[in-house]
Amino acid sequence: MTDIPESDPMSSSSENKDSEMKDDAPVAKKRKLVPENEQCEKLEQRLCGILCCAVCLELPPAAVYQCTNGHLMCAPCFTHLLADARLRDEAATCPNCRVAISASSASRNLAVEKTVSELPSECRFCARLYPRHALQHHEDNLCDER
Ligand SMILES: [Zn+2]
Ligand SMILES: [Zn+2]
Ligand SMILES: [Zn+2]
Repeated sequence: MTDIPESDPMSSSSENKDSEMKDDAPVAKKRKLVPENEQCEKLEQRLCGILCCAVCLELPPAAVYQCTNGHLMCAPCFTHLLADARLRDEAATCPNCRVAISASSASRNLAVEKTVSELPSECRFCARLYPRHALQHHEDNLCDER
């Protein structure tokens, strides 16, 4: 990961503003520029924290289920929870809020599934970022660094 140092926000504050008219001097760019990719990275990291499975804390690779209170679980964890509860002859419960969950009370969350599939993920060969739904195809067929 690269750490981009923040640009110095104070670099142009020493100009004498009130005595001179600058007539057609180029408009000073004083707006603080946040590097675009840094901003995205932060948003993506925040989204990863929001969209991850409540059980394994990974981004769900495929189907996403939710309890009736909206806590998310990836398909493998959801299946595991149900199977585990069946073994112990108990009702499965959401690990976050303890509401009972079952195959019929839980629902998919398609918006989360689609959002996750659009999040960038790193190619394990060339380290470039691709949307998760396109990464497999890239790694299997398109990557030059394989
Ligand atoms: Zn999981
Ligand atoms: Zn819950
Ligand atoms: Zn690649």
